[in-house]
Amino acid sequence: MRYLITGGAGFIGSHLSEALLAAGHQVTAIDDLSTGRMQNVQPLTQDASFQLVVETITNATVMDRLVSECDLIVHLAAAVGVELIVRSPVHTIETNVLGTETVLRTARRYRKKTLIASTSEIYGKLNNVPFSEDDDSLIGATTHHRWAYATSKALDEFLALAYHKEMDLPVVVFRLFNTIGPRQRGRYGMVVPRFARQALSGADITVYGDGQQSRCFCDVRDVVPAIMELAAEPQAEGRVFNVGAQVEIAILDLAHKVKEMTGSQSAIILVPYEQATEQGFEDMHRRVPDIGRIHKLLGWEPRIPLERSIADIILQLKQEGPGDPISERPVSERVVVG
Ligand code: UDP
Repeated sequence: MRYLITGGAGFIGSHLSEALLAAGHQVTAIDDLSTGRMQNVQPLTQDASFQLVVETITNATVMDRLVSECDLIVHLAAAVGVELIVRSPVHTIETNVLGTETVLRTARRYRKKTLIASTSEIYGKLNNVPFSEDDDSLIGATTHHRWAYATSKALDEFLALAYHKEMDLPVVVFRLFNTIGPRQRGRYGMVVPRFARQALSGADITVYGDGQQSRCFCDVRDVVPAIMELAAEPQAEGRVFNVGAQVEIAILDLAHKVKEMTGSQSAIILVPYEQATEQGFEDMHRRVPDIGRIHKLLGWEPRIPLERSIADIILQLKQEGPGDPISERPVSERVVVG
């Protein structure tokens, strides 16, 4: 099969491309290298079955050709990362809405099965974990730019499911919950590589709020097989699936774990949200997926423990050496907690 991966040079896209090539498929990756990186796919460019097109997915002419040539599309290209979203809300909305619209319209023209990446942000500020796919969402006010991301991805989901209902386009939506692993950057948020980089460089480890908010981190090497199995399963079509791990960790505990695993002397500090991001920033307290649906259909569940993911991220950052710039805002009061 020839797969078209939008965002194929990104963190998840490059791991997916690699796994598809290893399984004997052909891969065309389209990426505008905004947050994706050439370095992520450099080794793959040696493979005759891999092709990288450096272009934006809103280029309808290029997308027309690539979609016509492929068998299946995995649409990962998006503006991601809380800090990027808050800083560039226009870019976020336009990329996520217009990009997905181009992908689906072109997919329909050639009747190509399309998997759409979505996000646990969709659930918004709900507190009744675990979140099931059919739960209501609780999105904040439009004056908080963070919610532009959730809303844009919700529109992507609506559009994908509408193409399925009205035009019988085979689509599958998967919602990712805090995917982590080697190649993820800490630059636009993404707490694990950021803490690891801070710890390795001896900088303060910046825990936002009181650090009692928790997340479930799922290794990209568990996420990739879920995407591949969803792509191959006809019964997944027209449906939405949570993809994530269920082991929760508080962000302050994560900071301690990263500090310990790096043997770092860094201080762990608490940074008030308004200093970390925008005024009135709203974070989610907990975010746990119900993965019963994907487990029932495919038997899928995550296998890689958090410690291994963190260890591999640390190893990769050490191999890369210093040089991943992480923009920090000045912290007026430095509250050291570890
Ligand atoms: N976070 C933090 N320090 C950082 C970056 C993030 O404490 O330098 C927190 C953030 O406020 C959130 C959690 O870590 O509670 C996960 O953030 P991330 O951006 O990785 O993903 P999110 O779940 O917010 O999409």
